Amino acid sequence: MRYSRPQISMSSCNPLSKSEKAKITRLRRKLLGWYDENGRDFPWRREEAGTFEKICVEVLLQRTKAETVAAAYPKFFKKYNSWSQIANASIAELEETLKPLGLWKRRAQSIKMLATYAHEHRGVFPATKEELLKVTAVGQYVCNAILLFQHGKARPLIDVNMARVIERYLRPRKLADIRYDPWLQAATLWLVSDKKAINVNWAVLDFANSICRSKKPRCCICILNKSCSYRKRTILEEPI
Ligand code: SF4
Repeated sequence: MRYSRPQISMSSCNPLSKSEKAKITRLRRKLLGWYDENGRDFPWRREEAGTFEKICVEVLLQRTKAETVAAAYPKFFKKYNSWSQIANASIAELEETLKPLGLWKRRAQSIKMLATYAHEHRGVFPATKEELLKVTAVGQYVCNAILLFQHGKARPLIDVNMARVIERYLRPRKLADIRYDPWLQAATLWLVSDKKAINVNWAVLDFANSICRSKKPRCCICILNKSCSYRKRTILEEPI
């Protein structure tokens, strides 16, 4: 299936204030500019990677470093080049292949269930969140990945990295679980509401990895340091 341009949609009932929306829009612009210069090159980001590879990779990327997945990528996709091949593989074989990535038991189950659905539906997943979440092994993250990569909808790949950048730049969320915090959900959705939604997602991940790191963020060289809430707070707390 060909990738189409992301469709942008926002609910009319939005927990973001007008000024937060404006700030996130500026953040998006800055991140896209930063990404053009500093984005990382991974096999699943290249032209030749199709929807199948892009969705599979998102299952592999959960709780795993992109560099680790990149190292396992050639072997994995040489062995399995379609949903059907994964669907027909045994769990034991998938576990063995996925061992270098860690969490292989859980990952083998998830990818097999996802592939079985895809195999039975000619590689096409439902195009709405409601229908997608009914598919076994599809949680919020994979649901958004499918909407983004297969159906061209502007959806955020929310993980701890994306949450960290948004929260430091604006303000902390209220709920512990990032999947259920309505403010964070709205903020990340607004962030990627752009025809370059895929690049925005990748930009946030790369930025979180090299600049806005969880430990020792590199605020001094950060393009956002003049408007970042976290930076303003920490400067005030720094000893003179
Ligand atoms: S200024 Fe620091 S905390 Fe703020 S976005 Fe940049 S690196 Fe992150």
